[in-house]
Amino acid sequence: MFRFLSSARVRRRILIPLAAALFGAVAVLMLEWTFFRPRSVPLPVVVSTAPRAPLAALAPHELENRIRVSPCVDLHSYVCTLVKADDPTGDVRRDSEGEVEVLRIYENIIRTNRRLSPEKIDELLVKKIYTPERTRRIRDLFVKAKEHILKFIDSQPFQALSEMDKDTLRKRIERVVLELPPPAAVYADEPDLYTRNDVFYERTVDGNVRIRMGGALLFTVRSQFNLAFTLTHELAHAIDPCELRSDKIDILSYRSLAECFGSPADTLASECSARGKLAEVFADWVATHVVAEILTESAKAFTPSQVRSAVYNTVRDLCREEDDDQGDVDAGLASSHPNVAFRVNRIFAQHPQIRKLLGCRDMTGPALPGVPSYCFWPTGAAAQAVKDRDVKR
Ligand SMILES: [Zn+2]
Repeated sequence: MFRFLSSARVRRRILIPLAAALFGAVAVLMLEWTFFRPRSVPLPVVVSTAPRAPLAALAPHELENRIRVSPCVDLHSYVCTLVKADDPTGDVRRDSEGEVEVLRIYENIIRTNRRLSPEKIDELLVKKIYTPERTRRIRDLFVKAKEHILKFIDSQPFQALSEMDKDTLRKRIERVVLELPPPAAVYADEPDLYTRNDVFYERTVDGNVRIRMGGALLFTVRSQFNLAFTLTHELAHAIDPCELRSDKIDILSYRSLAECFGSPADTLASECSARGKLAEVFADWVATHVVAEILTESAKAFTPSQVRSAVYNTVRDLCREEDDDQGDVDAGLASSHPNVAFRVNRIFAQHPQIRKLLGCRDMTGPALPGVPSYCFWPTGAAAQAVKDRDVKR
């Protein structure tokens, strides 16, 4: 007890001045903080003179940070910003690169064979472009694309496609032929096709249906996945809603599918009119299903990064159409193609299997807020609803 009283007195003697000193110090600090603290000033803008790594030199994850675009949210912007994506089957270059390569071959042939007739020159040219190796690759892919489309038709439930519907669609796919030179006479009515990147499906006056492929494309596109998408897209035109309509074939489930493409607001995507985009959207949609299957098969032998590159390459050629599509108000082929971002982001990138291959987290729902879910061949209730409404009209 004594010790306590005695130490309390000593403590008071020491503690009172100490507390006063501390109080003073805190007061000084507060004053200084209030009146003299450093104000935040905007940092000067410094333009870095250090060279930034070109986009081509960046790994995909670095690129993602640089352009702040995720392939799961906006695949179109992501793919079109990539300078190069090599999948194990090859790359997709700019249209002009393939065209320049073909023109160079053409020039060489003309220079070294001055006495030959134009027909003979063309013959030499097609042999240099459409080599057995290149044409075999395309023919094999064409067969594969056909098989996958037939499988896609067969796999639909009867509520979507009846046996008769399936039979009609199968026959239309089976009769499409792929026309490739040599001989040059195959494209005699269209010789400038050798130097172009065009691929198209067309009906001939005698009622046959064929697909032709421009020579430059063989140099522009070396990725099998991109070629498979292109060939399947063209093949799908044989069964697109507008082709069927022109042949007076009406398949009920096509109507609900068209409604889905056109929702929520793009009515042109559900129309076969002059400016309607239904045929193109449908062809992209079928090609997406088929290539998703082909990609999934190949993915077993690929690393995850190779799989992603293969997915990017599948739609990489669509980037080149962007300039033509922006603000295009002319009727014609360009305007019948839907906006490129729509083709890539809504039709291709939202497919559940594609999202899975890209490693996107949400594999079933819509990729973007406000964007409707992916369109599938409608079954039962949806098809019936359209039928009922049609009857009341
Ligand atoms: Zn098309």
